[in-house]
Amino acid sequence: MRYAMVIDTLKCVGCSDCVVACQTENNVPIGYCRDWITETVNGAYPNIELELKSERCNHCENAPCVRCCPTGASHIIDGGIVLVTPNECIGCGACIESCPYDARYQHPDGYVDKCTFCHHRLEKGQLPACVSVCPTKCMYFGDLDNPNSEVSKLLKNRKYKTLAPEAGTKPHVYYLI
Ligand code: SF4
Ligand code: SF4
Ligand code: SF4
Repeated sequence: MRYAMVIDTLKCVGCSDCVVACQTENNVPIGYCRDWITETVNGAYPNIELELKSERCNHCENAPCVRCCPTGASHIIDGGIVLVTPNECIGCGACIESCPYDARYQHPDGYVDKCTFCHHRLEKGQLPACVSVCPTKCMYFGDLDNPNSEVSKLLKNRKYKTLAPEAGTKPHVYYLI
């Protein structure tokens, strides 16, 4: 099992419903976020294109945040999900510094927090909150090891990219382009 999220940039309208759903589902404190929307202008005038992306932790296969954590609070579980155990985190911030995606934040309660791929919902057979509310259905979630999963089929049939591939982190969030 290798969980992945696939997001279709051609269908994202930047509404931020995914951000609000995540904040509600995961009690993210006001002023912080586990996911966010980016806007990038591609091309040159007059052929310019606005790319909207819902970004979050990439649940990297080669995760620097896990390698640098001195206590083991940051760890990878079955399915390749990167998690933080709050009561093992000393809040040193090494993982925040090491993440090329700026995906982590210091929680006011003293530990570091980030996207969990809604692990608690997966355990109940539910999709991540952000995926489940997207009004344009541009977010997909599933198992890359299953060739018949929707995510596997999309990555087989569509062009895609990952963010900052040069960082060598092997992200598990893919953007259809
Ligand atoms: Fe760690 Fe950042 Fe990769 Fe998430 S995106 S696994 S926080 S390095
Ligand atoms: Fe590990 Fe917490 Fe330090 Fe991050 S802040 S490296 S999770 S102990
Ligand atoms: Fe937030 Fe869950 Fe989506 Fe991650 S998978 S961004 S924790 S709603």
